[in-house]
Amino acid sequence: MKGQTPLIEVKNLKKYFGESDRFFKRNASIVKAVDNVSFSINRGETFGLVGESGSGKSTIGKSILRLQSITDGEVLFDGKNLHQMSKKELRDLRPKIQFIFQDPYSSLNPRLRVGDAIGEALLDHELCEKHVVEEKVKEVMEICGLSKDQMNRYPHEFSGGQRQRIGIARAIILQPDFIVADEPVSALDVSIQAQIINLFSKLQRQKNITFLFISHDLSVVEHLCSHIGVLYLGTMMELGSRDQLYSKPLHPYTKALISAVPIPNPTLKRERIILKGDIPNPSKPPSGCKFHTRCPYAIDSCKIEVPEFKEVEKGHFVACHLV
Ligand code: SF4
Repeated sequence: MKGQTPLIEVKNLKKYFGESDRFFKRNASIVKAVDNVSFSINRGETFGLVGESGSGKSTIGKSILRLQSITDGEVLFDGKNLHQMSKKELRDLRPKIQFIFQDPYSSLNPRLRVGDAIGEALLDHELCEKHVVEEKVKEVMEICGLSKDQMNRYPHEFSGGQRQRIGIARAIILQPDFIVADEPVSALDVSIQAQIINLFSKLQRQKNITFLFISHDLSVVEHLCSHIGVLYLGTMMELGSRDQLYSKPLHPYTKALISAVPIPNPTLKRERIILKGDIPNPSKPPSGCKFHTRCPYAIDSCKIEVPEFKEVEKGHFVACHLV
């Protein structure tokens, strides 16, 4: 059941890199990888974080899972501050919060049979007896579209799509409440992407897992996410429900990203908005609105004043002087 209670709350999250260098060296640059980002994810919902490479999406994912420290702000899991938990509390919580990587191969031990790789966390966390592990492994392999006969094979014997299925099986065997999936389909062929997206939809329906789905591709996010946040240089530019963002995008950056999403009907055409230039160096972000150097609608004040991130309709937030 999808609920109205947030499982994850991110409040004014900041993650700066280079702070410690600055202590010794006055001019050392600080990269504000994530700057004052807030959002929440209700139980059973999937929240999509989108933006170009370098926008801070993965840094937010790692900060939520406490795979790295944060500079400021709060991350609450079921009301408890994750970054204030003791090591023991965090270890007890670990099975409930899982991570699916872009490249599952890098997280698989090449010398470990996949059945053992999928089941090892159950034993590490002492979640079941050794003799039951095999049955549980077979069960999740089947859910993830793998054959139980493949248990004794090694990672190199699988295709990219199958390895991603293994990565997903490793995460769901622990019966997590929350999963961060970081670009889980971007390394796959388009036809395989569709299969993995279908697997995620099946897990949403059957397991009531809450997801943070990170992607640079808005067409992928559209199929899975009920709410979406659009990031640019570590700052949230727009946030709203899927319908709000896709049918009425307000921020020029969101409009440009959506204009690149293909329409399945060949008789319909969307006018493509091509952004000029590349994403600026995060250690020297533009003044005022960080997007002004690429925005086709920028006015003089955009170079000076930071736009307020304001709610323009219920649940729909945007940071732009023109909205
Ligand atoms: Fe463009 Fe100005 Fe709006 Fe930024 S504030 S998105 S530069 S119009």
